[in-house]
Amino acid sequence: MAEAQGGRVRPEEASAWEALVTTARRTVADGLVVGTSGNVSVRVGDTVLVTPSGVPYDRLTPADVTGVGLDGRQLLGTLVPTSELPMHLAVYRATDARAVVHTHAVHATAVSTLVPELPLVHYMAAALGGPVRVAPYAAYGTDELAGHVLRALEDRSGCLLRNHGTLTHGSSLDQAYDRTAQLDWMCRLWLTASSVPGLTPSLLTPGQLAEVGERLRGYGQPG
Ligand code: 13P
Ligand code: ZN
Repeated sequence: MAEAQGGRVRPEEASAWEALVTTARRTVADGLVVGTSGNVSVRVGDTVLVTPSGVPYDRLTPADVTGVGLDGRQLLGTLVPTSELPMHLAVYRATDARAVVHTHAVHATAVSTLVPELPLVHYMAAALGGPVRVAPYAAYGTDELAGHVLRALEDRSGCLLRNHGTLTHGSSLDQAYDRTAQLDWMCRLWLTASSVPGLTPSLLTPGQLAEVGERLRGYGQPG
């Protein structure tokens, strides 16, 4: 069992931390965040591992495991957890999420300033549970923002945060990450299509989206 300041790290927590750091680095490498913006978390039992606040992801080592309980009490590590802890914990308390990714992806953030909901330009909205809502603005790190995000997430696995960014969750870090990448891609698609002068993008109907929701259950390889 590895020793970390603030508590013992179990083997499953050590490997979840490694995957969390990889995911956090990916958000920077793929251009979804700049610097220490954004944050990532993963749930192991009733412990939530989170990125520490304001620490560049390339500096994180296995000794930096940072973990809190669902009540926010620090269980592992001594680095200050992400300032968006209220938002991450609210999602874990209210859903069966195992991982949460928050970014400041540029296309998604641009869309968050323009509309209350991402128009249905592509069927991949079905992968997020339906039309993606924009949570009203509140200052970063506040309980108020966490509340807005929870409401925007109802029956969805992702939302936009007005003048701020994105939040997605999933059953794994890979799934939560992929949902963020798809969401930013869809936002980029809408910005591109809607910026052609004199033309307006066609949109899908709720019925067409529901049909895809069904089809996506069988997407990919069996099993
Ligand atoms: P942290 O560095 O505290 O995670 O904050 C980044 C952020 O995106 C706040 O919204
Ligand atoms: Zn943020």
